[in-house]
Amino acid sequence: MECAMVNFTNPGDRVLVINGGKFGHRWQQLAETYGCQTHTIEVEWGQAPELSDIQHLLELKPEWSAVFLQANETSTGIAYPLETWVPGIRSITDALIVVDAITGLCAHRIDMDKWGIDVAVGGAQKGFGIDPGLSFIAVSEKARSRLSERPKYYFDLAKEMAGQESGQSSWTPATGLISSLDKALELLSEIGLEKTHAHHDLMGEVVRTGGLAMGLDLLANQYPSSALTAFKLPPSIDGKLLTKHLQQRWGTTFAGGQGKLAGKIIRFSHLGFTDPLDILAGLAALEMSLRHFGHRCTVGSSVAAAMKILAKHTS
Ligand SMILES: *Cc1c(COP(=O)(O)O)cnc(C)c1O
Repeated sequence: MECAMVNFTNPGDRVLVINGGKFGHRWQQLAETYGCQTHTIEVEWGQAPELSDIQHLLELKPEWSAVFLQANETSTGIAYPLETWVPGIRSITDALIVVDAITGLCAHRIDMDKWGIDVAVGGAQKGFGIDPGLSFIAVSEKARSRLSERPKYYFDLAKEMAGQESGQSSWTPATGLISSLDKALELLSEIGLEKTHAHHDLMGEVVRTGGLAMGLDLLANQYPSSALTAFKLPPSIDGKLLTKHLQQRWGTTFAGGQGKLAGKIIRFSHLGFTDPLDILAGLAALEMSLRHFGHRCTVGSSVAAAMKILAKHTS
């Protein structure tokens, strides 16, 4: 993300950031750190702005240099509808469209060229399911012609791209991680991208159905992500104690809320190499743990509802 900011903005550039959670806020902090004239569309966590609101702002002169947003806002479990947003933004402005696709990749179709995304950022530790430490950036021809003038050293994409023409990286690459990624990509290409997306869509549907059946509400009702689901917790339940119990009693690792949602939500991942039985086990652990803290629901309601969805898709 920092590489994108450093290479595609100059100090004083007018940029727009969509901030609907912790990672949108990170774009904002990066843009401010690098001296951009930063405008933010801030939305309630778990909500999305209207495309028309984004477009209205972008119509205001002077010209914008870049628009920064997420594919998936991982802190809230929303997947912004880039398929309509990106062409919609493109129709208004010539600004670079920079997408943090770190949890979008693998879970959702991201058609960079067709939709008009200029810069997309990915990370190894999310959809690719390998160890953290490797991130990647994809750059359109247009973005390539607009590399920044600002000083940079490690994150110098012009230097990196020139080196790669002759098979050289600028710095020592993390070869172990690249081997793991190679393996993960091999598996993903055996499965195929369409099937991978369909799998995550189904896992998302199963988790949402299971959570609703045990009496939880979704944080993001509109555009639920296929990478992870965030549920609001009943006010009587402390999310920090809940995640601790899930870990200690059931050996399951859930994520709680970040920032202002700390203690208030629980996040259930269905990205990476998760399969239906992982999901059922996770739902069972969550249901039993909620009951432990006094939440009332029929025993097995989440797993039963989840299995009904699965049964429609498996024979
Ligand atoms: C995980 C993630 C990142 C990277 O965050 P780190 O703290 O560097 O792991 C960035 N954006 C999104 C949307 C993410 O989910």
